[in-house]
Amino acid sequence: MKKHKIDWPEAIKLLLKKYKNTPHPLEAKNLYQMLVMVVLSAQTTDSIINQLAPDLFNAYPTMQSLSNASIETLLPFIGKARGFRKKGKWLIDIAKEVKKDSNIPLNLQALTKLSGIGRKSANVILRYADAPAEGVIVDIHVLRVAPRLGIATGDDATKMEKQIMEVLPQKEWDAGMAMSFLGREICKPAPECDKCLMNKVCAYYNGWL
Ligand code: SF4
Repeated sequence: MKKHKIDWPEAIKLLLKKYKNTPHPLEAKNLYQMLVMVVLSAQTTDSIINQLAPDLFNAYPTMQSLSNASIETLLPFIGKARGFRKKGKWLIDIAKEVKKDSNIPLNLQALTKLSGIGRKSANVILRYADAPAEGVIVDIHVLRVAPRLGIATGDDATKMEKQIMEVLPQKEWDAGMAMSFLGREICKPAPECDKCLMNKVCAYYNGWL
């Protein structure tokens, strides 16, 4: 089937409008908590991280308190997260480097220098902080949704992020999180296309792939 040329900066507006200001499913109460929860959430569901968060942040309410943690004292609080030993070490390394909540950097370059924080995590932290977007969130849901929509191709998160950044102006870069929400709710592994507000422009639905 012939490919269709979609005006993505225009077409994506519908999706952005639907999920504008929708909070991230990680239920962080401040930036420190969001950073810690994002690090813990890699390859672990957001709901598991939400469950362990209250006890964890009761014990370690600030970056400063976390900087005094040892791996032995931290592990009982994060044992449900996959790869908890490695993640626990990353968190202590981050806390020793950042020292206090007010020092958490709010730019992509500085965030991605911290242990265990890649571009996706940094983009999530910047969105939470309402800082200017420096990239597009490409998580496991976006990896599925974006190629179906036809806004990006392949299965590599970094390349996909670059493609979306080239197609959309910076002010629309929250499209990553919007596609993630669409993937969680509608464009699941078995997509519910008839309910989807993007089906008029979707390559998968229209047979343009
Ligand atoms: S129309 Fe279907 S395949 Fe396309 S984005 Fe929506 S749910 Fe996903």
